[in-house]
Amino acid sequence: MSDPTQTTTKLSGRCYCGALRIQTSAPAQVVAYCHCSDCRRVTGGPVAAFAAFAPEVINILPTWPDPVEFTPGVKRWFCQTCGSAMAAWFDYLPDQMYVPLGVIDQIDDLAPDLHCHANNAPDWLHLDDGLPRDNGSGRDYLHAQSAPDTGPTEQ
Ligand SMILES: [Zn+2]
Ligand SMILES: [Zn+2]
Repeated sequence: MSDPTQTTTKLSGRCYCGALRIQTSAPAQVVAYCHCSDCRRVTGGPVAAFAAFAPEVINILPTWPDPVEFTPGVKRWFCQTCGSAMAAWFDYLPDQMYVPLGVIDQIDDLAPDLHCHANNAPDWLHLDDGLPRDNGSGRDYLHAQSAPDTGPTEQ
C-alpha cells in the first residue's frame, strides 16, 4: 500500500488547552471521515475525521480522563478542561480505537481512506476526493484494516 499513514510510526497530539497529550506507538490502521450526526456534535464541525489504532498502542497523558457513554456501547474520552474529543471506542468494533484527526500533530500525514455515513453529509458539503463512500458505519472496511494477518472474522 502507498498509504502515507503507514510511514509515520509514532504519532502525537494534544487537546486544545494542552492539559492532555496523546501518543501512539504504532501507525494508524485506517483514516476515515465520519458524517454521522453524533460525530458532528462531538467535534463541532460539519464533518468529523478520525484515525483508527489498535487500542493498546494509544496512550493519553498524564492520565486517561473518565470516559462518557451517552450512547450504549460507545465510550468517548474528552479533555475535562477544554472539552476536546480525544478518543472513542465502539463495542461493535472492538479491535480499534478512534482518535479525531484534529488533535493529532501529524495531520498532514493522515489523508483519509474513506467516508462513513456518507449519505448523512449536508447537501452543501462537496468533498470530491474519489474515496469510497459507505452509507453505513464503514465497519467492514475499518475492521478489515485491523487484523490483516488473521483472516476474516466470523459475524
Ligand atoms: Zn484540554
Ligand atoms: Zn460518526
